Amino acid sequence: MSGASRLRGFGASVFVEMTELANRTGAVNLGQGFPDSDGPPELLAAARDAIAAGHNQYPPVSGVPVLRAAVAEDRAARYGTEYDPARDIVVTTGATAGIAAAVLAHCEPGDGVLVFEPGYDSYAANIAMAGGVARPVRLDPGPSGFSFDPADLRAATGRGTRLLIFNSPHNPTGKVFTDAELALIAEHCVAHDLIVITDEVHEHLVFDGRKSRSLAEWPGMPERTLVVSGAGKTFSVTGWKVGWVCGPADLVDPVRTAHQYLTFNSGTAFQVAVAHGLRELGPWVDGLRADLQDRRDLLAAGLAGVGLDVLPSEGTYFLQTDIRSWGHTDDLAFCRDLAPRGVVAVPTSVFYLGEPLRTLARFTFCKRVEVLTAAIEALRADTARRR
Ligand SMILES: *Cc1c(COP(=O)(O)O)cnc(C)c1O
Repeated sequence: MSGASRLRGFGASVFVEMTELANRTGAVNLGQGFPDSDGPPELLAAARDAIAAGHNQYPPVSGVPVLRAAVAEDRAARYGTEYDPARDIVVTTGATAGIAAAVLAHCEPGDGVLVFEPGYDSYAANIAMAGGVARPVRLDPGPSGFSFDPADLRAATGRGTRLLIFNSPHNPTGKVFTDAELALIAEHCVAHDLIVITDEVHEHLVFDGRKSRSLAEWPGMPERTLVVSGAGKTFSVTGWKVGWVCGPADLVDPVRTAHQYLTFNSGTAFQVAVAHGLRELGPWVDGLRADLQDRRDLLAAGLAGVGLDVLPSEGTYFLQTDIRSWGHTDDLAFCRDLAPRGVVAVPTSVFYLGEPLRTLARFTFCKRVEVLTAAIEALRADTARRR
């Protein structure tokens, strides 16, 4: 029983294999991108208080009003983009469900959907669920990070192309798109009258003084853009699954309908707590950003110290390494070889839709300093043994 044909070929096989490999070898797991320390104590207390105060029944289909108001205030303050909490915002079961609802709401069977690759794995599955056709645009690694060729974007945009699913800060590359790139993409979307779903879950996790920008800030974009973000990455509470979709009411209405029949909504008490977080815990998030930057630097230096070529990471939980620096040309073989040496990474080829690049591996640095140090020590000791 292989299930419906539209989902054939999807599945978490490599992630499962890498987790099993970590368990079997005792290697430090730097594959999966979730933090191993808790979010701010005040946020956790706010959730407990919300439960005690009786926020335990269904939330409204669009989410609790106090969270929608907090999201609107937050986006107006940081991006200058205006959303009406009553009409333009839907709270979802994590960003994942928000993206799925947005794709199901706006993609007709046969529609072309532009998507950068490598990219977050749920996009391709969502496009398949909606019966759309993914049109990948490559992000290629270079000495100053990942970039795309505008000609590829134009070439991928054929007749029947209706949507772009965009993501910055970008998982799995760690790229933060520049203002010039965002302007070019925005212009392209306006010229081809595309609807844009922009995944901004890592919006706060940008390094070296960068400022996060939203594609919805560019001219001609507010009326065609659905912004998706959430609390998981911002507050280190990935298990809470509180996300949101913001956009003009005519684009958000069908998203709300899809969302209503997928989950309706969830996590009332968590939503109340996240509203508190957005309003009061900005300084904690600033601390997380600074701390993650230090951990990025620690891991990057450690990997470079054992001879791996590390690509620049400008944001997110992740950095990429070029495995050719260790003489490898197959990322899956590299990861299988790395685990007995003490560390598990993820082969970046799993994030491609078409023919993948097989010379990159993704490491996360969203783990405690002790864990990152243990990973580096294991690789150092192994390298010394092999000399
Ligand atoms: C983690 C992640 C998500 C999932 O967000 P949830 O709120 O946990 O559903 C979506 N997109 C990207 C790029 C991510 O890294």
